Amino acid sequence: MAQVLFLGGFGRSGTTLVERLLGELPGICALGEVVHLWQRDVRDDERCGCGHRFSGCDFWRRVGELAFNGWSNVDVDRVHALRDAVERTRHIPRLASAATASDEVREYASYYARVYHAAAEAAGASVVIDSSKHSALAHVLRWAADVDLKVVHVVRDARGVAYSWTKTVARPETDGVDQMTRYSPGRSALLWNAHNAAFGLLARRGVPVRRIRYEEFLADPRAGLIRLADFAGAPVRPEDLDFLRKGHADLRAGHSAAGNPMRFTVGRLPLRRDDAWVSALPRAQRRLVGAVCGPLLRAYGYPISIASEA
Ligand SMILES: [Zn+2]
Repeated sequence: MAQVLFLGGFGRSGTTLVERLLGELPGICALGEVVHLWQRDVRDDERCGCGHRFSGCDFWRRVGELAFNGWSNVDVDRVHALRDAVERTRHIPRLASAATASDEVREYASYYARVYHAAAEAAGASVVIDSSKHSALAHVLRWAADVDLKVVHVVRDARGVAYSWTKTVARPETDGVDQMTRYSPGRSALLWNAHNAAFGLLARRGVPVRRIRYEEFLADPRAGLIRLADFAGAPVRPEDLDFLRKGHADLRAGHSAAGNPMRFTVGRLPLRRDDAWVSALPRAQRRLVGAVCGPLLRAYGYPISIASEA
């Protein structure tokens, strides 16, 4: 059995930060967003979190050998065809209601299971983290053989998320030629609802899902990490948290395969809530997002009106 902790949620909700901190704990190996591994790493040879090209990273080379007898044996077109067939947001209702999985779902899940098993062995870890975020993939992984799946659902105030999606962020792994996707606040509000609701469905299917709020986690990262490590089945000792300092964490290099540029951070990582949206997101857009996301914001314990509007 591979113990897998899947970090889920809508993008820009803080999953990379949570993953980086968990990845510092003994017995836990953080893999980044495995969903992008096939294209960005196996095919395009982008950079690993350690700074090397994927093909030049010893960790991932070993994972490829253990999982597939070398990455060259992976048929990336096949993986993508399977993904298009089963792992789309529109497939979630079917995935969530199915009592059995199709052959395609099982085959697609098997690629991930092989990566998880190999990574656990290569790292000598008892738990591997996949921070792919996509709820559809989490629904697929429910059917992966020999995978003990647990999900951490990271939520962040939809208005902070919407503001973040309006900003331009470069993708350093492509040496500055590419930028991360942007969404209008209205679009990201709809996506925020859909992606977050999908994790509620997953919990109702019997998958252990632990929901955390980004803002609450950053208010006390030490307590948050202790709780998550317990949930993952890899409890920590107090000295394991020495990398947490006042207001920042001290990070080692990791081997995150893909994801937010924070995966490259080595050394000081500020642990500060990013509340820029409170003043920077225009009032009309704040209200729009607050209205569209109101029911779930309330369910997650977020206030609908904020201080600057009082
Ligand atoms: Zn690496």
